[in-house]
Amino acid sequence: MLTDLAEQLRTRESAGLKRRRITTESRQNAHITIDGCSYLAFCDNDYLGLANHPQLIEAVCEGARRYGVGAGASHLISGHSSAHHALESALASFTGFPRALLFSTGYMANAGVVTALIGRIDALFADKLNHASLNDAALCSSIKLTRYPHLDLIALEKQLASSQARRKLVMTDAVFSMDGDIAPVPKLLALCDKYDAWLLIDDAHGFGVLGRQGRGVASHFNLSSPRIIYMATLGKAAGVFGAFVAGQVEIIESLIQSARSYIYTTATPPLLSHALLRSLSLIEQEEWRRERLSQLIMQFQRGLQSMRWKLLPSKSPIQPLIIGSNDEALQLSESLRERGIMVPAIRPPTVPKGTARLRVSLSASHSKEDVDQLLSALRQLDSVYEPPR
Ligand SMILES: *Cc1c(COP(=O)(O)O)cnc(C)c1O
Repeated sequence: MLTDLAEQLRTRESAGLKRRRITTESRQNAHITIDGCSYLAFCDNDYLGLANHPQLIEAVCEGARRYGVGAGASHLISGHSSAHHALESALASFTGFPRALLFSTGYMANAGVVTALIGRIDALFADKLNHASLNDAALCSSIKLTRYPHLDLIALEKQLASSQARRKLVMTDAVFSMDGDIAPVPKLLALCDKYDAWLLIDDAHGFGVLGRQGRGVASHFNLSSPRIIYMATLGKAAGVFGAFVAGQVEIIESLIQSARSYIYTTATPPLLSHALLRSLSLIEQEEWRRERLSQLIMQFQRGLQSMRWKLLPSKSPIQPLIIGSNDEALQLSESLRERGIMVPAIRPPTVPKGTARLRVSLSASHSKEDVDQLLSALRQLDSVYEPPR
């Protein structure tokens, strides 16, 4: 096995696909420290700049003093604390669903929804560019997954129309994590209504960012429907950790009864829920964070207009610069790093072959000057760039 693995690792490396971790030594912020050097970073999903907020740090300490450090057990034994409970109520009313249920991670939440609600005689339909956790949720349940080309509602409609399944579940990212575009949720919902299907919306990148007071994609489109099963994560814009599913009472109660990724795992530390209650009110009240974010997005898009590299049409803080080849994407990321700027190169299989990219993610913790600095580094690299022959 070791010889095989070594061979596979070499192949991966020569294809420009070896993944490497960087080790950060500072708090998650617009400026991070790696190997003792400070970098301006456009890597994280901390879109509102809350991961480092003094009030949240204080809330974590207060939560630890009140609840201790660990939950000690799973939710169904004795790990479900009043902090978890209060957060679930607050999340349900914030997102406008009857009930909400906390999960340890978004990955586990997606797996829980699919395995608890969808069985062998049912069918799953998924956008081809969905997050891996939605695809893996289908794998966990060994249910046939039918994928439709990105945003192709005509293809989806054909698939739905020809399905004889008992239950049909359509799964979509709300904001696509590597492209930054927003799913046409009203049209998806109309198809679900027409074909009696359910809609699982993964709002990992919309919660806190989109909609009135950051209430997420349903608020962004002014939608509400009992067909929506809403999932969002709490480690991105909310700045902490965890995830939740919101929906009708019967949905949530069924998840409690049979979502294995909910039942067979230790509850997250209640101190995190305590901090997340605070985070939720910051999301709700500090509109300036979303305003700053949209200004930075416009500034970045305007700055790139005159350059060789094309941005995907994204209105979200995820601004992908399509490069194409793996090596070039890596090289560009490396050249930026030499200039003190961290932007990750994203390669297949995370994105389709031939669409390696720099994924610039903007945050309310960035300043106008930070974005200027990134733009001027890109402009410099653009002027010395030689296309490969
Ligand atoms: C990050 C992410 C997840 C996973 O959430 P975690 O809490 O990090 O496990 C799920 N879906 C999408 C679209 C994501 O971007």
